[in-house]
Amino acid sequence: MFDKILIANRGEIALRVIRACREMGIASVAVHSTADTDAMHVRMADESVCIGPPSSTNSYLSMPALISACEITGAQAIHPGYGFLSENAGFVQMLEDHDITFIGPRAEHIRIMGDKITAKDTMKALGVPCVPGSEGGVNDVEDAKRVAAEIGYPVIIKATAGGGGRGMKVAENEAGLEVAFRTARSEAKAAFGNPDVYIEKYLQRPRHIEIQVFGDGKGRAVHLGERDCSLQRRHQKVLEEAPGPSITQEQRDRIGAICADAIAKIGYAGAGTIEFLFEDGEFYFIEMNTRLQVEHPVTEAIFGVDLVRQQIRVAAGLPMEFHQEDLVINGHSIEVRINAEKVPGFSPCPGKITQYHAPGGLGVRMDSALYQGYSIPPYYDSLIGKLIVHGRDRNEALARLSRALGELIVDGVDTTVPLFDALLQEPDILSGNYSIHWLERWLALHFG
Ligand code: ADP
Repeated sequence: MFDKILIANRGEIALRVIRACREMGIASVAVHSTADTDAMHVRMADESVCIGPPSSTNSYLSMPALISACEITGAQAIHPGYGFLSENAGFVQMLEDHDITFIGPRAEHIRIMGDKITAKDTMKALGVPCVPGSEGGVNDVEDAKRVAAEIGYPVIIKATAGGGGRGMKVAENEAGLEVAFRTARSEAKAAFGNPDVYIEKYLQRPRHIEIQVFGDGKGRAVHLGERDCSLQRRHQKVLEEAPGPSITQEQRDRIGAICADAIAKIGYAGAGTIEFLFEDGEFYFIEMNTRLQVEHPVTEAIFGVDLVRQQIRVAAGLPMEFHQEDLVINGHSIEVRINAEKVPGFSPCPGKITQYHAPGGLGVRMDSALYQGYSIPPYYDSLIGKLIVHGRDRNEALARLSRALGELIVDGVDTTVPLFDALLQEPDILSGNYSIHWLERWLALHFG
């Protein structure tokens, strides 16, 4: 086992990893930019190293700075968290060259899944059901028209290098296809440096269901059921729950086994998430994330496992501490993402926290790096906390969420808490009856 791990991240996820390290008796090293000198992760880690100026390009994304920080502190492994370098195959390669262990999958698997066309081809070959669409990429408008006519409109044009909900364009009919195709390509080139796009059937009212998988890197793999992340704004998740209110045990067992088998066959190591759209009882693969997800705590809640601990064990060459038959769902869990944003426009709202009080009590987990007097810097993501509740069933989880939101105090900046207060009044949310388009429609209806 490692003696010391460096966490190449900030905010709540850095705290999350530090906590797992501490429970395992492993020393932790925080890295920070000059804008994060007073950040909670720096205070909480055993050691810290300043790795650069505020801009993430020159700090949290600076590979040489991170490697130097490992060398200075003697850290043997890096946990990347999510975002930043967590899905950067080049970084994994570089760490290998420096004899530093990356806590995550092999570079090869990150590379395959990081290119969505290759990911889809790979999954298809492994027996995972995919959204109907082009075989590989589409290179010109004529090709796009031919594929779209085959699968039927509406279609969605997606960037193979896309991520974070960016690089997608919907075309309702052939007249709209040319513009959608050209804008998708030029936007993809500008945003990701790669103009390659592919086409999929645009599903009308699917749910976003993702399967948590875990592999030991030696051919053994399990699944930890699904999370429903259908409540989205601009393709970004807002609330997540597990188990999915629309998924039966039979459906879970079937798709879970397909996913676990697929990653076992490729010898995948560590945590991964296989994302699907789910409509009329069918699952359609859209992408795989080769890292820990923001919403992993809902899975931890219902299975009673620590996913970060398992990531660290597998990276150290130890076996996972569970087998498929040990993984039995207990109750229901919901997470809401608390962002420093002004509702309803969702404009970022950095600033000084004048008062902070975290909710507590049975079945409540608050993952946040906030403290009273902390100034949220304007340079990074606006996620400032995740409130996760667990109940014996969905109704108890909903009641607990409402109660916990009432206890939470974050003063000094605007947050997305009022959005969740309002959502908890909605019959569709209370009954679990929502698709990926529900939130956008609701926002348009209430705020225009
Ligand atoms: P990203 O990597 O940017 O998150 P994804 O492929 O995971 O992109 O898609 C993000 C979201 O976009 C999905 O959760 C869903 O809401 C929407 N989406 C993607 N593909 C389709 C599709 N074929 N039909 C309808 N919606 C889609």
